[in-house]
Amino acid sequence: MCGIVGYIGKQKAASILLDGLQRLEYRGYDSAGLAVLSGEKFSHLRRTGRVKNLAQAAREHSLFGGTGIGHTRWATHGEVTEANTHPHVSSDEKFALVHNGVIENYLGIRKFLEGKGYEFFSSTDSEALVNLIAYHYAKEQNGTDRFFESVRKSLLHVEGTYGLGVLCLDEPGEIIGARKGSPLIVGLGDGESLLASDVAAFAHHTQNVVYLNDSEIVRLKAGGFSISTISQEDVEAVVQRVDWQVEESTLGDFSHYMEKEIFEQPTALENAMRGRLDEVNGTAKFGGLNLTASEFRQVDRILFCACGTAWHACLVAEYLIERFARIPVEVEYASEFRYRNAPLDKDTLVFVISQSGETIDTLAALREARRKGFRTLAITNVVGSTIARETDGGIYQYAGAEIGVASTKAFTSQILISAMVALYFGRLRDLSYQDGIVLIQALKNLPDQIRTILSEADHIQKIARKYADAEGFLFLGRQVMFPIALEGALKLKEISYIHAEGYPAAEMKHGPIALISETCPSLLFVNNDEMYHKTLSNLQEVRARKGRVIAVTTLDANFPKDLANDIITIPSAHEAVQPILASIPVQLLSYYIAKERNCDVDKPRNLAKSVTVE
Ligand code: GLU
Repeated sequence: MCGIVGYIGKQKAASILLDGLQRLEYRGYDSAGLAVLSGEKFSHLRRTGRVKNLAQAAREHSLFGGTGIGHTRWATHGEVTEANTHPHVSSDEKFALVHNGVIENYLGIRKFLEGKGYEFFSSTDSEALVNLIAYHYAKEQNGTDRFFESVRKSLLHVEGTYGLGVLCLDEPGEIIGARKGSPLIVGLGDGESLLASDVAAFAHHTQNVVYLNDSEIVRLKAGGFSISTISQEDVEAVVQRVDWQVEESTLGDFSHYMEKEIFEQPTALENAMRGRLDEVNGTAKFGGLNLTASEFRQVDRILFCACGTAWHACLVAEYLIERFARIPVEVEYASEFRYRNAPLDKDTLVFVISQSGETIDTLAALREARRKGFRTLAITNVVGSTIARETDGGIYQYAGAEIGVASTKAFTSQILISAMVALYFGRLRDLSYQDGIVLIQALKNLPDQIRTILSEADHIQKIARKYADAEGFLFLGRQVMFPIALEGALKLKEISYIHAEGYPAAEMKHGPIALISETCPSLLFVNNDEMYHKTLSNLQEVRARKGRVIAVTTLDANFPKDLANDIITIPSAHEAVQPILASIPVQLLSYYIAKERNCDVDKPRNLAKSVTVE
């Protein structure tokens, strides 16, 4: 969500900022802008829509200067207009600011400053902060470190979250950055320094980075930096090397990142399994859990917290862990858990899942659990992300960069890791060695089974064409296919804007059945399991109401051809891996439907990749 880039050095800041903003486009945004210090004033450009609009404007203006900040905005306060686009400049025109997050007490700050004669030109919360900095600067007339101190003092008055970058006309050799709840990273080059909300913005420039922690403030100069907390404690910065493969973020022969990432799933899953299957002991092993086997045996309840697609992965984890390890599992939306003050048993393990490792509600849930003294574990894809740094232990997905806003390979890799966690916990309890080995074999077969499904993509595309005009869609499944139905509905909604609902197949009768019509088809997951006949009955209920049906069915189910309008057959597999296989055709179907409807698949309207506001 929303991006920050800052540059200070010998090169032309504007081109580096534009390049960085382009690399952050995948996160989702609605407008973009930049400000560069050039002599006595800021060169300041803002455009709604795509970064290419800003780049076009930049070509028409000469933007010199080696110090600048840029931003892609995902509006929280105020519509998508040029006036609301960042950077915001203070009314005395001395400061420019880019901000990610939400200043919750901005109305009070704004009222106070308006009383002092400061003018406001936008409806954003962020503009309150840039003027507050200007106010403190004017007050501090004789102080040393005047710029730094005015930012620091302003932040002491701010409630809410921020990642920010600030420029001051009087201090052209410095950018000040700060973070609380919204990521910010420093990049160190040769005689140049960078600032960004995501390493993707500058990893091609430098791989030497410093991750800022909450309540830290950084002074960035071309030749170095210093970090302290906003309450003035010194911070010993740790410079780390990031291993970011730039080629991961290129499209190759694919039309969209989503398509590319669907096709990358066999490899992503191989990466998640590598070195983690222990055939000698019929179990899984993980390097970073930081708990001993006997500590794990004491766990008598697991609480999973996440948002969006990752929350669906948690629901799959619930089915698998309860089934194979017999440990009671609960799943909560992180945004609810963080404020709910839920009573938890003392031996509860709190597990969070977040692709980006920056999802603010999930991070807050993790912090709440840690504050209360619970052990926490995390599954995340981004090495060095805030959640990865703050959790007691965790498991990296190694799925590679996921650029498409609608998650695909990250979702299936989260389920795969959940299956391995279920195996690990199961083998600490009552799952037999033989059962463990059967599951390991099933996991090993998975990448090739996915390749088989991907080779049928044309068949799925043909089906997609027939349903692209649907007005609504139901996704129905039982047991562990229920979360996959939820995820299928979410995927279709996200990228094609067709309203879709996921339901347990039997629950459909309790309301959604009213939606069924010729223009509202249903997709049902029909596996050859103990629910087979019951699911077929639900399917008949849809057909009896003239609903068109797509059946996603396993090869061993021998699904009767005349029972559905369209059939997608997937390989049969172990119960723990079947949900992964069932996810693939549904991702492809959503993708092809969205393409058929000419939707902007990789940048769906209103959506952001990594949600860093509550
Ligand atoms: N709250 C700010 C705004 O609406 C920043 C949004 C963002 O994080 O991009 O302008």
